Amino acid sequence: MKTIPTLSRIHTINSLIFAILLTTAFTDLAAETHASYLVSIDADHPRYATVTAQLNPQQGRIYLNDSAADTGLYHGWATFLQSIKATDLEGNPLEVVYLTNGSWRVSPPVDQQISLEYEMLLQHDRFPNDPGDDELAYAQPWGVMWTGRALFITGTPADQIEVTFDVADNWGITTPWHRVAAGSNTFSISGNEQLLDAAFMTGTHYEHEFMLEDATIRLGLGGESVQPQADVFQSILHRYLDAYTDLFGGPPHSNMALLASEGRLLGGGVMGSTISMLFGQQLAGEMLPMVHYITTHEMYHLWNANLHYANHPELYWFIEGFAEYITFLTALRNGDLDEHTFLSQLAERWQLYSNVSGTLSLAAAGDDKLDNYDLIYSGGMLAALTLDAMIMEQSRCRFSLDTLHRYIYRHYQPGSDAGLNNHQLAEAIQQSTGVDAEGFFDRYISGSEPLPIDTALQTLGLTFSQSGSDDAPVISFIDNRDEDRIDVWNKLMGNGEP
Ligand SMILES: [Zn+2]
Repeated sequence: MKTIPTLSRIHTINSLIFAILLTTAFTDLAAETHASYLVSIDADHPRYATVTAQLNPQQGRIYLNDSAADTGLYHGWATFLQSIKATDLEGNPLEVVYLTNGSWRVSPPVDQQISLEYEMLLQHDRFPNDPGDDELAYAQPWGVMWTGRALFITGTPADQIEVTFDVADNWGITTPWHRVAAGSNTFSISGNEQLLDAAFMTGTHYEHEFMLEDATIRLGLGGESVQPQADVFQSILHRYLDAYTDLFGGPPHSNMALLASEGRLLGGGVMGSTISMLFGQQLAGEMLPMVHYITTHEMYHLWNANLHYANHPELYWFIEGFAEYITFLTALRNGDLDEHTFLSQLAERWQLYSNVSGTLSLAAAGDDKLDNYDLIYSGGMLAALTLDAMIMEQSRCRFSLDTLHRYIYRHYQPGSDAGLNNHQLAEAIQQSTGVDAEGFFDRYISGSEPLPIDTALQTLGLTFSQSGSDDAPVISFIDNRDEDRIDVWNKLMGNGEP
């Protein structure tokens, strides 16, 4: 608090003691709010987590995150709470009264820290909730994966949080949080969001850790069929973190953890800077292309979904569509996909999109992401392709969607005041590439006109064909591409970017 030195100085002239008292009082008021959690998990009963916490109730109340609202659980994550008790700092018991949807009142009300002890039973993977399972806590023979939002009860938002794990000696802990010292089971976390929008894996799983500039990247792999693929995961992680760092012009904004295991379904999700992936009952060799696709898609989100505008339904086409497009484009650039496979992926997406195009605008489709899956994912991907072609054509290959990525990374840092909506995205294109995309957004993003994919393909020197209405559509290069088409394709491949 900046006023303290001034006040102290004034009073020191008259009374040193008074000044010290005053300073102490002000320091307390200005002090950061701390909270700490001790999480104990017994290897013999891994589904039980006992948490001892020191935290400040917020106006007498404590909470579990309400993000469980759409799981259909009436009491949200509190459904899995086994016991809870609270005491004040002197050890006097406090009453904890359940209110609703994972919130409690502590009485009598205290205006200081309390000590809380509660037990959670991990049953999140025992009720049907797919899709979305990949972002739920689960237990496996090797250990457990807990999401912060389902485990940590909070009060007044804390500035500094410490989480310590009490687990078996041979159990590792994989999380994006900052480990206070090498080999320590204690992690420091700056703020509630980082605590709740994250996950950790603890058990006998495989762990790998490396640095990317200032960020620590951790990999946790659980399960008999997943762990042997450690080399595959590490190779993808290293090569795509590098590729996306080049694309955006900078690394992800924080530490990250990638947690993968066998599980009920096949899929992935992102919570803050934690990527969680499940690969069904067994990760078979033929699923490796799928592993590649899911991992690289989710990794891209570390950049584009972690900006604080991300949870805007009107931008889901951008969050998911750009992730799809850049994932496949980077695989093509990295030599992990050949041109033929890349083009058949485009053709497949065009078919999925054309079944639903014209019904609803891409911006409005975000209101129901899963119902409008093909619009958001395939439509969004083709919107990215169309924008890329348009930027390359109009800037005569000086710029591309790559240019926009660098601009967004520089101007829309997480934590900055800069938010983004579709209008501002069009403006970002104008600012970074000089291409006027306003009309494009009006017609194809806010409006529901089908995307001008034919035009984009022409720009790229590609053509679309379909022998019969039941046959798979094909996208291929036109014969005798001219210089301009070849330049555009080279630009698409990432060559010649200034
Ligand atoms: Zn995604």
